[in-house]
Parts: sequence; C-alpha cells; structure tokens
Amino acid sequence: MVNYREGLTGRLKAVLFDMDGVLFDSMPNHVYAWSHAMTKYGLAMTHEEVYMNEGRTGSATINMLAQRFWGRDATEEEKHLIYEAKSKVFNTCPEAKPMHGALEALQAVKAKGLKIVLVTGSAQTSLLDRLERSYPGFFHQNLMVTGFDVKLGKPYPEPYLKGLQKAGIKPEEGIVVENAPLGVEAGHAAGIFTIAANTGPLADEVLMNAGADIVLPGMIDVAKFFSN
Ligand code: CA
Repeated sequence: MVNYREGLTGRLKAVLFDMDGVLFDSMPNHVYAWSHAMTKYGLAMTHEEVYMNEGRTGSATINMLAQRFWGRDATEEEKHLIYEAKSKVFNTCPEAKPMHGALEALQAVKAKGLKIVLVTGSAQTSLLDRLERSYPGFFHQNLMVTGFDVKLGKPYPEPYLKGLQKAGIKPEEGIVVENAPLGVEAGHAAGIFTIAANTGPLADEVLMNAGADIVLPGMIDVAKFFSN
C-alpha cells in the first residue's frame, strides 16, 4: 500500500467514488426491500445474496432467482411486478444516512487537489440535490456518471471508462472506491487501481477475488489512505 502511494506521487489526478454502500449507507434498505418483494412472489433472497449482487439490474436479479426457484426465466410481467414491489417497499424506507467516514474521505481527496468523480448505476433524477445536501460542494454535474449515461452497467467497465473520460484522465491516473463485488469488477476491468471499502457483511476474499487491489474495512480507512 505504502509503495503504491509513493508510486502515485504526481500521477494521481482523480478519485472515482461509487455511491450506494460507499457514500450512503443505503444497502440495508435494499436488503429489506429485495427480501420482502421476493418473498411476496414466492422467491427467497438472502441478505448476503443482496450484497453479492449489488449493482446488478433489477431485471437480471429477478431472473437469477426465477431460474433457481422456478427453473425458467421470469416473464417481463413478473419482472415488472416484482421490481415494482421492491421499489414500493424501498420508497417507504428511511432515507439512507451518509456513510461513516465518507465525508472525511472526500475532504482528504479534495485537500490533495484531486478531482472527485461519481460513478453510480443509480438513475435517480434528484441525485445531485441529495449529494449536495450531505456533501456540499464536492460533486459537480459534469463529473458524474449515472445509470442514464451507460448502456452496459457494472460489472462491465463502461461506467468507469466514462468516468475517466469525464475527468479527462488515463486509468493509471485514477483510483476507484467501491464496496460491491460487481463494482470492483468494473473498476478493475477499466484498468483502474481499485480500493474496496468493505462496508457490508461479505468476506474480504470476495472483494479480492473480484479484482480489488486492496480491501479496507470502511470509509474511515479510505480517508486515512488519502490523508497521508
Ligand atoms: Ca455500491
């Protein structure tokens, strides 16, 4: 880690942050909503499985369970109904709080004069407002990649490649901060040094196997990484 940082001097230009599970503690809401919706339709999704598949589209997630429990693909109608049920429960959940340590991480990155880029699969329309409320002054519309910007989301590298493009940098000039296996895969596939902040219940090995260059226990440790 230390050697890597020394090698970075003068080379690092931007840090690309994922949002759910990195900037906001939103995964418990997703876990709650997915398990309720799946149960309602006779499927079962464990908490760990929600974390394992974080970032997969709703349609692909539903289909994965339909194949396992029903031995066939889910129909478009089933996908629609189950996803609607998930969204309905999710919208009743309390707004996710900022992740512990994320503000400090952003401050440390900003203090180094590095660009802050958001790379999320989320396609909420009020994303910038929400970011601005929790992290005023850190995010800018022209340095955000959302679910609206990409054809192939995580684990494909496209979101992070778009992030590099928006920041105007090469892969070796950036660092990705991710929490989920599919997000780590995406950062790694884009050729960017990827820090996994293990803010959920998965084993560190899962994130290492997905291609993480280092795994840190949480965002406070990410803040320390950028503070030295
Ligand atoms: Ca995430």
